[in-house]
Formats: sequence, C-alpha cells, structure tokens
Amino acid sequence: MQAMVLKSVVEPLVRSEVPVPHPGASEVLVRVAACAVCRTDLHVVDGELPNPKLPLIPGHEIVGHIEELGEGVDGFRIGDRVGIPWLGWTCGECNFCRSGRENLCRRARFTGYTIDGGYAEHVAADARFCFRIPDSYDDVSATPLLCAGLIGYRSLRKAGDAKRLGLYGFGAAAHIVAQIARHQGRDVFAFTRPGDAEAQKFAVRLGAVWAGGSDETAPEKLDAAIIFAPIGALAPAALRAVDRGGIVVCGGIHMSDIPQFPYRDLWQERKICSVANLTRRDGEEFMELARRIPIRTETQTFPLEQANEALGKLRSGNLTGAAVLVP
Ligand SMILES: [Zn+2]
Ligand SMILES: [Zn+2]
Repeated sequence: MQAMVLKSVVEPLVRSEVPVPHPGASEVLVRVAACAVCRTDLHVVDGELPNPKLPLIPGHEIVGHIEELGEGVDGFRIGDRVGIPWLGWTCGECNFCRSGRENLCRRARFTGYTIDGGYAEHVAADARFCFRIPDSYDDVSATPLLCAGLIGYRSLRKAGDAKRLGLYGFGAAAHIVAQIARHQGRDVFAFTRPGDAEAQKFAVRLGAVWAGGSDETAPEKLDAAIIFAPIGALAPAALRAVDRGGIVVCGGIHMSDIPQFPYRDLWQERKICSVANLTRRDGEEFMELARRIPIRTETQTFPLEQANEALGKLRSGNLTGAAVLVP
C-alpha cells in the first residue's frame, strides 16, 4: 500500500511545480545542480523504510548553490557550492550525539526520507549538515560522494585493516570504495550478480585483483567483506568467504532477510555488523580523502523528468556507476 502512495508521489513531482521552500533560521535554500540516485531512494519509494515524510521529495546526494541564507547561518555565503547528504539533522543532546555517534541519534532526520530531498530544483537544508565539495569535482561527478562515497567510507573503516577485501554488489558505493582500498594497498575481490560480465569488467578496470559472481568462490580467503547489495543471502555467503577473525560489514539500510546458517560459519571469531548513516566527521574526512586520492566517480546523467527511468535502471541493475539527475 505504502509503495503505491510513494510511487504516485514521485510521478507528479518530476513534472510539476513544487513550491520553492523557505529556509528556516539555520537553513540554506539551495538551487539543485545535480542529485544522484541511491539504492536507498528505491527502498524509500518501495515503502521498505518505516515512517517516511509524505508527500516526499526523495534524493540525498545533492550538489547545488546557495540562493538564500537563514538568519542564523554561519560560515556560508550566497553563491557557495554545497553538498547535502543523507544526515539532515540531529538533536545534539542525546548520548549518541554527545559521544561522536550522531549517526545513531534517535531523533535524527534524513534528507529525502524524513525531510524533502533533491529530486527537485530547490531544496532547503540545515547548513550545519552541509559539506563543502572539493573544487576539483564538477557538480555531477561530486554527487555520488555524498552517500555512496560516505557510506562506503564508513563501511570500509569498519573493515579495519583488512588486506584482502571482498565487495558484494559492485555499484556506486563499491566503485568508490575500491579506489580507496587500492590507494591503501588492499586487494579488492569483487562479487557481482552471477553472470554480470559488465560489472566484473568495471571492477577489474578499477583495480580489483579478482571479479566474479556472488555464487563463485574467491581464489583466497578474505580478511573482510562489505555487502552493498540488499540481499540477505549474501551475509552467510560472505561469512564463508572470510577467514578466521574476519568481519562482514552490511553497508545498506535495508536487506532481505538473512537465511539461517550454521554456527560454524560464524565460529572462529568471525563477526557480522551493520553500518548506519554517517556523521559529519565522516563527511569531512572523506571529502579530504576523495580530493587527495583523487577518487573518480562514474556517472550517467538523466534529466530530472526521467527520475523514474533512472530508478528503474538502478532497480534492474542496468547502470555502470551512479545515475545522476540534472534539473
Ligand atoms: Zn541525538
Ligand atoms: Zn544513499
């Protein structure tokens, strides 16, 4: 039911006049230059995440320019380019916020989920949660940094100093993580959907030492694996692929159920964990890293009117890199 409601929200949105929002005291009004399409948008549109704002404008990988400043905004000027990520607001008071874990804040608000996002010409955003984008990126190529990059980076940190790193699902996030991992001297093993030769070629081009289907066995045991595909069955598969003491990191916000698996697959101090959201500190660290490496993003642009087509291509796996909407 919910899915139906949300789909009907996306459809009119992409061809209609949505009123320009007014920035609140701590907010900036941003003219959207580009907004990438994330798998989370699909989960939102499909009604797989609880309690979205309705009606809703999706999109949380936004790059744009400031047109108006709320009276309490510090540190930005009209005309500045900003990036607007998934984390849109946190309370700043709870024990998570005060211990450097604002990503876990129970009252957190999320762009394109519980506040309106970037599948639009304008968006209002809390300036305290906006990032500066390195000058070396153009608007379109910077967009995937804002979620695929950030969440990928947080997932990679959870993998510790793993030398042999498996990536399950080689889309927008993995194509960025692979570049960081290579830069750090790790070996990347890419697992794609079985038979997806295109994605496997893409992974090898980005420096993977091995690429194959998720039904295949890597030539070596892994020290860690990150799962970006929303498929629960990959969790026990990845546990079997990691060596003793290895970790499996689930990088997505939603996954189908994880099937039952024997305890021996977890035994020998293997671990499984999830990654939720981002902190502003992740964002600052990651933007600096992206500039320094430098991370290159692969994008396919679509006019904003074709938001539904872009979502459809992501759903069917017919994208290399990230889809980006341009108003
Ligand atoms: Zn909080
Ligand atoms: Zn995202």
